[in-house]
Amino acid sequence: MQRPERRYTTIVIGGGPAGLFTAVNLQDYNSLLIEKGDKAGRKLLISGTGQCNFTHSGSMSDFLRHYGTNSRFLKHALHAFNNMDLIAFFKDAGIESIEDKNGKIFPASLKAADILNTLLNACSDRNISFLRGSPVISVKHSGDTFRVYTSDSEFHCHNLVIATGGKSYPSTGSTGDGYRFAEMLGHTIVEPKPALCAITISDYKMAALSGISIPSAGISLFQNGVKTNEHHGDIVFTLKGLSGPGIIDFARYMHDGDLLKINFTGISQQVFVQEFVSCTQKSGKIPLQTWLKLFNVPKNLLRYIIDEAGGLSEQPMAEIQKKVRTRLSELLCAYPFQIEKLSGYKSAMVTAGGVALNEISSSTMESRLVRNLYFAGEVMDIDGDTGGYNIQAAFSTAYAAACAINSAGL
Ligand SMILES: Cc1cc2nc3c(=O)[nH]c(=O)nc-3n(C[C@H](O)[C@H](O)[C@H](O)COP(=O)(O)OP(=O)(O)OC[C@H]3O[C@@H](n4cnc5c(N)ncnc54)[C@H](O)[C@@H]3O)c2cc1C
Repeated sequence: MQRPERRYTTIVIGGGPAGLFTAVNLQDYNSLLIEKGDKAGRKLLISGTGQCNFTHSGSMSDFLRHYGTNSRFLKHALHAFNNMDLIAFFKDAGIESIEDKNGKIFPASLKAADILNTLLNACSDRNISFLRGSPVISVKHSGDTFRVYTSDSEFHCHNLVIATGGKSYPSTGSTGDGYRFAEMLGHTIVEPKPALCAITISDYKMAALSGISIPSAGISLFQNGVKTNEHHGDIVFTLKGLSGPGIIDFARYMHDGDLLKINFTGISQQVFVQEFVSCTQKSGKIPLQTWLKLFNVPKNLLRYIIDEAGGLSEQPMAEIQKKVRTRLSELLCAYPFQIEKLSGYKSAMVTAGGVALNEISSSTMESRLVRNLYFAGEVMDIDGDTGGYNIQAAFSTAYAAACAINSAGL
């Protein structure tokens, strides 16, 4: 039997960083946060391998390069509440930050629990009502009231914030429920897909190279035979395919069946051949392997590629056949990897796709279709690179939504 409904000014669905920070910033404390799990912030707790890389030290113009094609949507929110504001928020709460050599910011304790506890304490200081272990099942809207249903209760509110995250790591509670709620209220969902994930490669023969990493490889993406995108970044060979920041950050653009061509040398195939010929003319006695050392390709990978090209490591350059040279240039400058599968939601760090951004105001996070309906965090069609960009986006969009609710009043 349903318990009698209660009316709140604002209900926030989802107790991840986006939902918690929205609640923390609401000025009218007649607010309710509903979290499906017995504990809030389960994904936050495992972020950054439990150390929580909550933002990045980069400038805002650099930040905006880290959210793929949807970066523009975040411009306003990121400026209104930026990385320094987030660091200051935690500092005020007694949490110092540290920065690693790549600009990633962590709590100095390297404990994600310190970040989560700060948010939970701030919610309790503000007397936010908190319902845990209660998945929201459906939402309805009529007049100026939203009705929010859990299995045994019905709640009413004037403002509704959907902050249910994406679909990745479903064990943390993010199972895409918010997409359903948004659809119930008339919104379009851009098809979700796993992002920030490793990939498996069809007919992969490099398992023995697992663990080897290539700094700053050139990665070109081909769809149906046409080059559609390119990227640079560190890649790592795994037992079944490729990973590393260069692959993970680029995965938002990839689909099962696409082709990647990886350049391990930093020069084009054409320049490779020119330099090969020039070296052969000047110092033809140099063993192939010695010349190839120029490119700083890890030894085991180099051996593998020389072998696949049909060459011999110790063979003098002048004796290398043209067809071997051509094959070497292909394999070293454009090694083809057919993507079998992007690793699924179970291990993808974020979800690309989500509530369509053209239906949301980028300054307030309010729906353009339904008044007083707001979105915060990953439930929207935004996904950032690794480096703290996703959690910062969750905080910045939450702040924008809370400010808009505060200034709209009742
Ligand atoms: C392993 C891993 C490591 C990561 N590391 C980093 C990192 O170091 N830095 C970084 O920036 N990003 C990182 N991310 C990504 C980052 O954690 C997410 O982008 C961020 O947590 C999104 O915040 P959110 O509040 O929008 O959603 P979530 O954190 O997914 O929270 C959504 C909440 O909504 C609740 N919910 C869902 N459905 C319902 C419902 N029906 N009713 C009630 N509640 C519901 C869920 O239980 C969950 O608590 C990592 C992700 C993973 C998986």
